[in-house]
Order: sequence, then structure tokens, then C-alpha cells
Amino acid sequence: MDYLEMPKLDLHCHLDGSINLTLAQELLRERGEEVTLPELRERMQVPEHCTSLEEYLKTFALPLALLQTEDSLRRAAFQLAMDCAEERIVYLETRFAPMCCREKRLTAERAIRAVCEGLARAQAKLAAEGRYFRAGVIVCAMRHMTAEENSAAFRAAREQLGCGVVGVDLAGAEAAYPNAMFRDLFAEAVRLGLPITIHSGETGSRDNIREAVAMGARRIGHGTAMRGDHDLEQLLAKQRIGVEQCPTSNLQTRAIPGISACPVREYLRAGVPVTLNTDNRTVSGITLTHEWREVDRAFSLTGEERDALLRNAIETSFADDDVKEELTRICLNGAKWL
Ligand SMILES: [Zn+2]
Repeated sequence: MDYLEMPKLDLHCHLDGSINLTLAQELLRERGEEVTLPELRERMQVPEHCTSLEEYLKTFALPLALLQTEDSLRRAAFQLAMDCAEERIVYLETRFAPMCCREKRLTAERAIRAVCEGLARAQAKLAAEGRYFRAGVIVCAMRHMTAEENSAAFRAAREQLGCGVVGVDLAGAEAAYPNAMFRDLFAEAVRLGLPITIHSGETGSRDNIREAVAMGARRIGHGTAMRGDHDLEQLLAKQRIGVEQCPTSNLQTRAIPGISACPVREYLRAGVPVTLNTDNRTVSGITLTHEWREVDRAFSLTGEERDALLRNAIETSFADDDVKEELTRICLNGAKWL
């Protein structure tokens, strides 16, 4: 299977962790700092012997420092979309935490708008070339932030829901700040009508997955800890709650010992709407094509499994029905696009 040419969707992709290296170099140069690409790769990619999610999260310091202005957020979003289109991702949901972009007093509203604008610019450019591409923004609350800060981020997301924003998420150190601490925040998200995905079960807690479901999540980020828990799998299968698997990221944070331990096939067989995603293209040093190839290498995916993964992504995406219909035509009915 030619995974580079296969039209695909990425539902779990962090903007900061996926900043294009050449763009990062450019942004640093504009700040008066000359860094070579190998040096930059060294600073922004997860170390080979990373041992935990906490260590993995440290690599975000530099990209975050670069994303403190509307201009840099706009350019990062535009370039990410172009990089994705380059490997035939036809639908992207990218996420970021606007409250982490306030070093220069940027408001959440303006930060979100800048990311939406960058994606819209890329979409228009690709459309002019006859290439289909759609993208949306997921606004992340952060586990270490205050209830007021997270609530402000969600209210800003609500203002731009349908104008680029497609949903909300909760990110950060899952073990230190379990989901149960955020019940009020997500009750507010439900009240505001915001589609919800929550990082859960990335670092071993099944309780966090159950909690996320109770909190109204339509998707679970990672959900790796659900392995072997058939009751929980049945619950997600029955409620059609998506599970965003990110195999290499899980390998790097030691959530799994090898790609063959990634529960993609187990979840598919249980009827869970599982999908394949990148998490962090730059931090992990990967593409979505790479993730599909790795999973295929480990499992020898059947054609039915491939279609199911794509169908799951379309079904559980936060796209509207028209876009879902178009994506079905492109990804599953072989419609031809450049
Ligand atoms: Zn993530």
C-alpha cells in the first residue's frame, strides 16, 4: 500500500509539537538567533532514551517560546497545513493551548483567530491548486493551569466555534492532574456546546478514560491504558467514542514497549472507533505516513482494517456532515483529487 499517496486524516496533532523545523529556524533568526537545522532538531526532538511523558513534554519549551505572536501562530498553522497536504492528509484537526501563548500579552481570542487564519490561508492556496484540504482547531485547556484560565480558553473557543474552531481538549501531565479535577470545566464545555476530546489513558489510568466518558468526551486522546479492558472497550464501542491512537508518541513516552504492543487491532476487533494520528510531528520526528507504515509493518493491516481506520476517523472527526460526505468520497470511494 502506498501510504504517502493514500488520502488520510489526522485528528490528534499538536501545533507546537509539529512546528516545521525550517520555519522554527526562520523565527529564531528573526529574533537574532542563528541555529542550524541539525542543532534545532537536537533541541526540539524527543531524546532517544526518553523515559516518560514528563520528559517528553520538556521538548515543548522551545516551540512554545516561538509561538507567542499572532504572526508566528499564523505562519506555524499555515506551514503545518501545507506539510500535511504534502503527504495527502485531506483533513486535519490541530490543537494548541492559547493560554500558553501569553508571554507578550496575546489574548486567547487573538491567538485562536491567528491559527484559524493560517489554516484558512493554506486551505485557500490548496483549493486554488485543485487540492482538497480541510482543517479545524481544537483549543486545549492545560492541566497545570487555573480553573479561571482554562474557562477563559473555552469561552474564547466558543466564540469561534464554526469559524475555524471545532472542539476542545485537556492536555498536560495526566498523572499529576487526573481528569476528575476538571469536571466543572467540562460541564461548562458541554453547556457551551463544544465538542470534546480529552487526553486520557496515555499514562496508564483507565479511570481517566471512564471519567472522560462521564464528562462528555466524544473522543479519547491515546486511550492506550484501555488495553485488555473489554468492559471499557464495549462502553466506547457502544457509544461510538473515538480513540485517537498515536503509536510512536506512545513508544517514546514508554506507554507501550513496541509498536506491536499498540492496541490498534485489539480496538478494531472490539468495534471501538480507533484512528491513527501523529500527536507531535516535529517532537517525535515523524509524519502520519510514517505512523501508517509502522503500524502496517507490525500488524500487516488488511484492506478492511485500513478502511475501518479511515471510516472511524471520518465518523469521529468534528467536521460537519458536508465535509464528512466529501471525505468519505475521497478516502473510501476513491474519488480522484490532485
Ligand atoms: Zn497529544
